[in-house]
Amino acid sequence: MNGPARLLVVGSINADLVVRVPAHPRPGETVLGGDLAVHPGGKGANQAVAAARLGADVALAGRVGDDDHGRMLLATLRREGVRTEAMRTFPGSSGVALITVDDAGENTITVAPGANARFAPTDVTDLAPAIEAAAVVSLQLEIPLDTVRAVIERCEAAHTRVVLNPSPAVSRDVLTSGTLLRACDPLVLNEHEATTIAGDGDAREALKLLRALDPSPRSIVLTLGSAGALIAEADAEPVHIAAPPVTAVDTTGAGDAFTGALAWRLAAGDALPAATRYAVRAGAAAVRRAGAQSSYPTPDELP
Ligand code: ADP
Repeated sequence: MNGPARLLVVGSINADLVVRVPAHPRPGETVLGGDLAVHPGGKGANQAVAAARLGADVALAGRVGDDDHGRMLLATLRREGVRTEAMRTFPGSSGVALITVDDAGENTITVAPGANARFAPTDVTDLAPAIEAAAVVSLQLEIPLDTVRAVIERCEAAHTRVVLNPSPAVSRDVLTSGTLLRACDPLVLNEHEATTIAGDGDAREALKLLRALDPSPRSIVLTLGSAGALIAEADAEPVHIAAPPVTAVDTTGAGDAFTGALAWRLAAGDALPAATRYAVRAGAAAVRRAGAQSSYPTPDELP
């Protein structure tokens, strides 16, 4: 594809190393698990792959190490149709998530960020032309926070729309410090992330508090699992978008499928309600199959 991408995802890319265990080891304990499975992951890569499956013109700006994982991750992006011109390879390790899943389906996850941690604020100068040319830039918080801030400041200067998923969850103080929030259009978060910021309370109360933050995001999309999503734009009453009923097999990565689809539809010119209606269908489709990227739908698979 020629010219810069319409959707630029700036974020993390990891190799997910998954082992099934009969029960999680306690501190000091060793358990024998099943075979090791290695899957491509990381929130940035997941969102970019979700968008590409849906036909997006999407590039990922991220960092991998010069190791086997890095080569696998880059090959996967290319195979999925994600543009890699903004990817960089550093000496050392790629990001790795060590995941154990027990017989009850509960997981524990330890992330070694590797090359993701070396995505520096000064690297954003390099990205400026891609940011300026994109319709939407989508971000999460698995790369250094100062880099996320630097990208958002570039977006503001260039009038490029920002979609931010504040995940892993952060406190209200972190989110409202500096320039993180004011350009978000929308801030996309799940109930766990929303209540981490808002304290206790249900989703609608959390939404109210998020709208009253200073600075406040331009719009908010709160995802509600099987209940779909709530949209809050300007001063309007929140709008609820129901998710299609599906048989949920594995909800891993549903939020990333949702956000990738949402960012793509916004980049393609949809208004926020239409983009959200599309995204809840993509999220619902992603829970019908196991895994994260392996579960993401093509357009003909949307419920
Ligand atoms: P996360 O995956 O970040 O925890 P959610 O659980 O809110 O986020 O899910 C994101 C989106 O995925 C929802 O808005 C919805 O579209 C879809 N989704 C998740 N779980 C289900 C489900 N059980 N049935 C239908 N859709 C679902």
